[in-house]
Amino acid sequence: MPELASWLSRVPPAATLAMGAKVRAMRAQGIAVISLAIGEPDFSTPPHAIEAAYQFALKGATGYPPVDGLPTLKAAIQRKFARENGLDYALDEIMVANGGKQVIFDALFATLEPGDEVVIPVPAWAAYELTVRALGGVPVLVPCSQEDGFRLRPEALEAAITPRSKWLFLNYPNNPSGAACDAAGLAAIGAVVERHPQLWVLSDEMYEHLLYDGMERASIAAVCPAIRDRVLTMNGVSKTYAMTGWRIGYAGGPKVLIKAMANAQGQISLGASAPAQAAAAAALDGKQDFLAAHVQAYQRRRDIVATALADAPGMRCHVPEGAFYLFPDITACLGKTTKGGRLLLTDEDFAAALLEEEHVAVVHGAAFGMAGHLRISYALIEASAKIVSFCRGLH
Ligand code: PLP
Repeated sequence: MPELASWLSRVPPAATLAMGAKVRAMRAQGIAVISLAIGEPDFSTPPHAIEAAYQFALKGATGYPPVDGLPTLKAAIQRKFARENGLDYALDEIMVANGGKQVIFDALFATLEPGDEVVIPVPAWAAYELTVRALGGVPVLVPCSQEDGFRLRPEALEAAITPRSKWLFLNYPNNPSGAACDAAGLAAIGAVVERHPQLWVLSDEMYEHLLYDGMERASIAAVCPAIRDRVLTMNGVSKTYAMTGWRIGYAGGPKVLIKAMANAQGQISLGASAPAQAAAAAALDGKQDFLAAHVQAYQRRRDIVATALADAPGMRCHVPEGAFYLFPDITACLGKTTKGGRLLLTDEDFAAALLEEEHVAVVHGAAFGMAGHLRISYALIEASAKIVSFCRGLH
């Protein structure tokens, strides 16, 4: 058989997708699995966004959109950045992609040379590391401990930077830990970046609206004007507007980088779906009042699940400020045996046994660069009692 490309061997399939496939297979056998492994909201796309896509297509505007995005959506993004983030981007400093995922690919495709390093504070969304590897870069993982609230310490960042460092990836609120970072914390990180002119910063602000306990959002490009022209501020409509399937992400950044990224995107696709872009523009320009209710609902769920898990022997759970995940430390459960007789040596064993014995799906921490933890989405709260019962059964 003709050979496949060598990069595939450097990039294992994402654990979140593998867990999703396992859950589907068990459900197909009639097993009622509760999945806490998913990274998507459980509410619906706003009807006015759906209507906008429909009207846009009915009007016949169904030709190829510009590679960097429809002018109407770019203008809506420009207003959003100004209104919510205090960022003034010109229209040629904004681009649209097929999800935030493609923004990341475009940015790395447009800038990485083989051997270039990308500093990734972990735990982190697995796609960062895998995309860097796929493009021949070298991920430099910087552990951020539970004791530090999973936030990057400026000294740890300084120690990780080398002359080959090309990017620093930041993601607050964070997937998988839920950690958020305030303006003072971002300013301290920005001060380190300022000393290293070879470094771009990707600020993934996908979960910016999901902040609790009155925590205020902050964008590093606004907090640190001195590095504004080295920051790519990335966002999308997936999490905020429950539009994961529409596949619209966007970014604001310096013109030279955005132009290179649009060029890269032109080699991959001819832009993002035009009706989906019309829906995204309607979501960004439309009413935002329902967001507060979503945030309240998530905060309540976070509190219910974190309180329940406090009773799980061996689990140590930090209560995070944002997103919709908990990332408890389960190292004290390792080395023990489950009721069903399974020996748990790793977090992956724990997740597999929890699925087999309690039919609850979570993702193991090693998939996010931090072993000894689990990522539990609290978009659903029903399974907490089963997790507690699983931990109580360990011996
Ligand atoms: N950034 C983070 C931190 C995510 O968790 C995800 C999706 O799970 C994305 C970006 C990708 O979002 P999109 O649906 O826009 O590709």
